[in-house]
Amino acid sequence: MKAYDGMYIGGAWRPAAGQDVIEVVNPVDEQVIGTVPAGTAEDVDTAVRAARAALPEWAATPPAERAARLAALRDVLAARADEIAETVTAELGAPLKFSQAVHAAVPIAVAGSYAELAATYAFEEKTGNSVVHHEPVGVVAAITPWNYPLHQIVAKVAPALAAGCTIVVKPAEDTPLVARLFADAVHEAGIPAGVFNLVTGLGPVAGQALAEHPGVDLVSFTGSTAVGRRIAAIAAGQIKKVALELGGKSANVILPTADLAKAVNVGVANVMSNSGQTCSAWTRMLVHRDRYDEAVGLAATAAAKYGERIGPVVNAKQQARVRGYIEKGVAEGARLVAGGPEAPREKGYFVSPTVFADVTPDMTIAQEEIFGPVLSILRYDDEEDALRIANGTVYGLAGAVWAGDEAEAVAFARRMETGQVDINGGRFNPLAPFGGYKQSGVGRELGVHGLAEYLQTKSLQF
Ligand code: NAP
Ligand code: MG
Repeated sequence: MKAYDGMYIGGAWRPAAGQDVIEVVNPVDEQVIGTVPAGTAEDVDTAVRAARAALPEWAATPPAERAARLAALRDVLAARADEIAETVTAELGAPLKFSQAVHAAVPIAVAGSYAELAATYAFEEKTGNSVVHHEPVGVVAAITPWNYPLHQIVAKVAPALAAGCTIVVKPAEDTPLVARLFADAVHEAGIPAGVFNLVTGLGPVAGQALAEHPGVDLVSFTGSTAVGRRIAAIAAGQIKKVALELGGKSANVILPTADLAKAVNVGVANVMSNSGQTCSAWTRMLVHRDRYDEAVGLAATAAAKYGERIGPVVNAKQQARVRGYIEKGVAEGARLVAGGPEAPREKGYFVSPTVFADVTPDMTIAQEEIFGPVLSILRYDDEEDALRIANGTVYGLAGAVWAGDEAEAVAFARRMETGQVDINGGRFNPLAPFGGYKQSGVGRELGVHGLAEYLQTKSLQF
């Protein structure tokens, strides 16, 4: 157990304004592994002022130099990859291999992608008798969740810095340690004082103060719909720009011509990965009625393999929430074929890898984001029925389509109301825009579209 001090503001670790701390708990054994300061509105104000003071110089720094700093940041993160993985494992509970392969590796790739984009993006373009300058939006407030704690920070900080913005980050209270490690990496990379600032603290206190601060030009938020709605309302009142990434209830559509075993196995792995705490997880599997029973059998077998391998969910509240959803699924008449609501271990916030069959589209477990290792398998009659079910939620973040023929899968994917679709198990691409249709959010992260979120245009006519 270690008491970490200070907030990273204006290029140094400074004492917090208040005395309160947040305990960081290891979800595997429920032990307190450290404390960090609980930031107040005063800390937020100091951080926003530092970001504002640093803005003119950073905005005027040539993109090639910003790119060089981001490349240095990428290198520091890569050099500290093991430490990043161990930290995420300690505070999120993710198995170490997964932390190495995803929680450490993805942010390194994303930081690298923005080092390249900053160097190559056309920050100036000609159209007719005009020159259009793409200028930084200004001071960014980033409020991030715990499920991919470093990725979600880097997916905001790297494009913001590439664009010439300065930023204040308020990380999730459950995962502040990797955020602190990131602040050290920013420092080591030689990013100028005030360009990046970190305030740890509670959402309703530090998070809200940050979103409300008049010195902030853009709020970029990832997390729950309930908080996202509040942030959007605050931003609307002040005519601030806002970007929201709010989760989903994505469909994994297995068309009749698909390789069923592959589609089911990859689909189950997708949901169980990170203990189901992935906003883009394919938590609804849609299978044609003729192959339904076979798919259910395959999924139950696949899920059973995760029993020992799966990590816990992040905290006791999430564990209770997920178990509540499983109970609700049973109560509404879905058929449990793997797992269940009982906690599989005495210690730690574990939830059994759970699969429901006979789920109908109107059930709560088919509509709401559970954020745990719970898969619902739904039956469809024909392609139109599958499409209606796939599009039949308020969300639209991601999805998957499997078919014998790629063109058939693409034709179906084109009709889905969602921001990302993996075709026959397509791989993650850190350059592809990520974000939601419908209530899954506003705006896009990653790649050139993610960079554009942090830019505004100025047209000069000649
Ligand atoms: P959350 O409360 O929305 O947390 C996201 C971030 O917002 C955290 O940094 C949080 O701080 C902060 N926050 C909370 N209240 C705030 C407020 N009033 N003003 C400004 N910032 C505020 O999400 P959660 O409670 O951790 O998780 C609840 C559910 O949200 C999950 O079960 C899941 O369904 C969904 N979720 C989605 C994603 C996603 O990737 N889209 C990620 C995480 C969770 P604290 O850490 O102090 O709460
Ligand atoms: Mg919360």
